[in-house]
Amino acid sequence: MWDRCLLCGRQVPLEVHHVFGGVANRPKSTEDGLVVHLCPECHRNGRWAAHRCRNTMIRLRMVGQKAYEKAGHSRQDFIKRYGRNYL
Ligand SMILES: [Zn+2]
Ligand SMILES: [Zn+2]
Repeated sequence: MWDRCLLCGRQVPLEVHHVFGGVANRPKSTEDGLVVHLCPECHRNGRWAAHRCRNTMIRLRMVGQKAYEKAGHSRQDFIKRYGRNYL
């Protein structure tokens, strides 16, 4: 899991992407383990990269929220912590 890009599955050197970015949310994202490993294409460079394509970003945030709720938090907890609901 750590050696494959989450989005394309390629085994190349990966970069850490914080599912919830920004000054306020990035540290929380780290704290909650809501980080994913993406190849440079899927992370920054490609047409559908997380930092260039809003749909990709939202998709990852949906995955992140699901993981957060699966870890035993309620939806209210999530909204309170990250400011909105993605599901
Ligand atoms: Zn990729
Ligand atoms: Zn990133």
